[in-house]
Amino acid sequence: MSYIEIPAYAKINLSLDVIRRREDGYHELRMIMQTVSLHDTVCLESAGEAGIRLECDTDAVPCDRTNTAWRAAELMFGQYNLAGGLRIRIIKRIPAAAGLAGGSTDAAAVLKGINELYALGLDTGELKRLGLQIGADVPYCIEGGTRLAEGIGEILTPLPDLSGIDVVIVKPHIKVSTPWVYSQLDLSQVTEHDRPDTEKLTEALANRDLKAASLNMKNVLELVTMRRYEIISYAKSRMAQAGAEACLMSGSGPSVFGLFAGPEKAQEAYAKLSAHREWECFIARTV
Ligand code: ATP
Repeated sequence: MSYIEIPAYAKINLSLDVIRRREDGYHELRMIMQTVSLHDTVCLESAGEAGIRLECDTDAVPCDRTNTAWRAAELMFGQYNLAGGLRIRIIKRIPAAAGLAGGSTDAAAVLKGINELYALGLDTGELKRLGLQIGADVPYCIEGGTRLAEGIGEILTPLPDLSGIDVVIVKPHIKVSTPWVYSQLDLSQVTEHDRPDTEKLTEALANRDLKAASLNMKNVLELVTMRRYEIISYAKSRMAQAGAEACLMSGSGPSVFGLFAGPEKAQEAYAKLSAHREWECFIARTV
């Protein structure tokens, strides 16, 4: 085999709680993550000549060695002494710097793809250990599905599968820096009301009860990002008005997603929300 195509799925945060700031500067998190069908496609082709080459159909992400996909390939080639080179092509659909793990999922796809392409026989645990060297969300992107993520995001516990829920995502046309959001978070100001009750949320999701889930779908980073960017609160209120059973900002933002009680409702909301010029709009399902 010399060529492979891997879908690289986006994630949404059904909750995000920040427990504490660790001594090493990272934050200890507790969040429920969910894969959605919105995805990039990562194409890998082994090449005779040494070196990595990367192309992407958008200039929204770098095409050099700072690209997470490139970093993942470099890691695998170094670790396993792979001969020759690799051509990477990314068909990008996930908006960048959006809180949807676009970079992490491309890296995860490259790790999985190289494992297949070169028949390395690595198991998921080994791929996740490698992925963590690239970013905290990469191990989750390797596993995917409905997961409780703890630690810096790398300690994963499977939760009852929540696939098949209709989702609409809006990505306002603003750039939000993840390090800036964490630097602005004052944990002494976070009240119990701001935090998700992860156990109650897990139970509501297990029952696929979106109304009950919405009471505990909370993201403490909204405290920082929504205060600074009014457009995010506006997007969230429009999502609710458009009929979402539950809505939340994903990750450090600025994307906001809504969960819908069926494909017609999601389609209707997508049509309404797509008419706005302030954001990009996507329709998807949980997978
Ligand atoms: P997370 O939800 O994990 O915090 P995010 O969705 O907020 O991630 P990314 O899409 O991963 O953010 O992008 C973060 C930065 O990484 C961007 O500034 C982007 O230029 C850079 N980047 C490098 N490689 C990629 C890639 N393959 N896809 C997207 N962004 C990339």
